[in-house]
This record gives sequence, C-alpha cells and structure tokens, in this order.
Amino acid sequence: MEAADRVMTSTYSRFPIVLVEGKGCTLTDVEGRTYTDFVAGIAVCNLGHAHDGIAEAVADQARRLVHVSNLYYSKPQIALAEWLVGHSFADRIFFCNSGAEANEAAIKLARKYFKDRGAPHRFRIITMEGSFHGRTMATLTATGQTKIQKGFEPLLEGFDTVAFNQTEAVRDAITEETCAVMVEPIQGEGGVQCPAQGYLEGLRELCDKEGLLLIFDEVQTGMGRTGKLFAYEHFGVTPDIMSLAKALANGLPMGAMLAREGVAKAFTPGSHASTFGGTPLVATAALTTVKTLLDEGVLENCQRIGKYFHERLQALQSKYAFIREVRGEGLLIGLDLTCDGAPVVTACMERGFLINCTQEHVLRFIPPLIIKEEEVDSLISCLDSVFEGLSSRSEG
Ligand SMILES: *Cc1c(COP(=O)(O)O)cnc(C)c1O
Repeated sequence: MEAADRVMTSTYSRFPIVLVEGKGCTLTDVEGRTYTDFVAGIAVCNLGHAHDGIAEAVADQARRLVHVSNLYYSKPQIALAEWLVGHSFADRIFFCNSGAEANEAAIKLARKYFKDRGAPHRFRIITMEGSFHGRTMATLTATGQTKIQKGFEPLLEGFDTVAFNQTEAVRDAITEETCAVMVEPIQGEGGVQCPAQGYLEGLRELCDKEGLLLIFDEVQTGMGRTGKLFAYEHFGVTPDIMSLAKALANGLPMGAMLAREGVAKAFTPGSHASTFGGTPLVATAALTTVKTLLDEGVLENCQRIGKYFHERLQALQSKYAFIREVRGEGLLIGLDLTCDGAPVVTACMERGFLINCTQEHVLRFIPPLIIKEEEVDSLISCLDSVFEGLSSRSEG
C-alpha cells in the first residue's frame, strides 16, 4: 500500500485492504479476511468473481488468439455482435474498451448523423443534471456534475445540461442546434435516481417530434443489472443509440455502442476506430457472459433477490429515521440517508461487507446478480447493527 501511494497517481482514495482472490460473491484480502461483495467492481462482475465458465472460455481463447487488428474479421466479435443485435433494439454494434469510449462513440455518431443529413449546425446534445457519462473530455462535459468537470476547463462545445426527470426542461432547452438527448434510464453514480413515471416515454415522444436522436447510457444499468437485459425494456421505450460497458465482459474491459440501422450508417470506413475494440479474448468473455446471464436464470435471480433486498431495506427504513428512501430496480439499489454514508461503508467493511456510497449520502448496493438470500440477510443484520450504533450515538 505504501508502494502504491508512492508510484501511482493519487486519483483514488482507496480503502486500506489489498484484495487477492474472489469466488462468487466473496472476496479475500491479503491477510486472509473475507468480504461479501455488494460492489462487484462497481456493477461489473455480474456473474461474480472467478466464474468457472468464463475462466475456461478465456483461458481457451488465450491459447488460441488474444488480439488481431480490426483490419481483419474475428469470430468471437462477430458472434457477440450477432447476439447483441438479436437481443436488443439495435442493428449495428461498435466495440471499444470502456463506458466513456462507448459514450464518445455515441456522441460522435450523433454529430456525424446530422452532418451527413445536411444539417451540420445540429451538434448540441442535451444531458441531465446528476448524470455520469465518463471522464474523457467529451464525456465529462456531458456529465451533469461540476465536481467531475472542475479543473479541466475549457470544456467541450456542444452540451446543454438540464434538470433530470423534467420533460419540460428538455423541451425548453431544444434549439435549432440540438441533435440529441442523452440520458441514463436510471442514474447510478448520481445516487440511484429513477425516472419519474412517463419521463423516458416523454423524452422519446419529444425526440420523435423534434427529429432528435435519443441516446441511452446503459453502461451501468445494462447487462441484467435491473432485472432485464437492458433497463429500457422496463419502460417500453427504445433509444436510437445505446452505450454499454461495465458488466459486458464480466470484468474484462469492454464497451459497446449500439445503434439502429438508419443512424449507424453514418459511421463509414475511417470514421471511428479502436485498436483493442472487441478483441477475440474480450469478446469471448462477453459472449460467455451474455449466454450465462440468460441460460442460468441470472436475470430471474436478479429480479427475485432485488425485490427481497428492497423489502428488507424498507423494513430497516421503518426502523431508522435517518433513512430517507429506498429506491432502484433489480440489483441497482440506493439507500438515501439524511446523514453521511462514509462511516457506514467503513463499519460494514470492518464487519466483512463491501458496499459503496455515492453522492455522500446514498448507499449503493450493486452486488453480483448471482447473490443469494442468505448473503442479503447477513448484510441486513450488519446494517441493522451499524445503524443501531448510529442512532444511539445521535440520541446519546
Ligand atoms: C461507469 C459509467 C461510465 C464510465 O465508464 P468507464 O468504463 O469508467 O469509462 C459511463 N456511464 C455510466 C452510466 C457509468 O455508470
């Protein structure tokens, strides 16, 4: 840990544990202590750690072919693209390596689409307050949080941020220069903020009426996290462009930008590229991940345990006044507190549970989707005792 503090940029404020091994929803640190993982690498390891099927597929592929340039075809990439097209609204896929890159591709595609249609003045994208779209210059500009942008000015031209969950605010922000509306179906980093009834439907209607593209950032909500393969399926609304990453390859770095045919055709040879995008190794991991999600009842488990977890948290809410709200969908759950969440995270870690806190006061639970009731039960007892301590301290 001292070495890390010496040789790496101080980009992260890390917890003082060194994790060396994992299996399913359990992680082990260098001192042999175990933790039940309700973070999953921030909604990444949806099938848990060291999944046998993925380990085997990756090892096998690594012996065969790890990387070839996108100047050539490769089988795992084609199979994965076909699978994604077959299971989503999209007709075409572009592969990259992260969520930010998937959003970059989405932003570039939206701009290019209007350039190609003879409307080069339409390049502005409306995004939402509290959103998170990544850390590259374009995606941090798209992100509606000043704390992410501070220090990196000048920001990029072409982004307008409006309040989340207000269709009116989007309507008012549309000008002749607007080309797209970009939104997370559920804001993850922003504190697990769910869309108001009719909000996403309203955005779709508005985009259709004004001839704008609708971009869904499903980097966090996609790949089964909310109990459906993609969160948009909950709302009966389809975007024109969608970004994926995080859980796509269950921990190997992969992103994807999906689009319907009429939009995707704006990308032509030379428009965009990625050296590592969709390599045979990572595409194999992703293909195994998506098949396992459907074949092994993982989505059903996510729905069932998500509901159970939600109910158990609601029971805690009725017991502790400082719990403001329980919200979320599937296994993307937020517990909004009236107080600082950091001490709760630390206390849980000391008791063998990894949980996350976002926006200072929202505990975020994003475990592997294979999590079991017993594991939820243990976390609930842990939270109960931590909360008990908090409330007796505030009373005392
Ligand atoms: C994590 C996240 C990103 C950024 O992904 P990176 O892989 O870190 O670049 C973008 N959008 C959303 C919604 C995310 O949750």
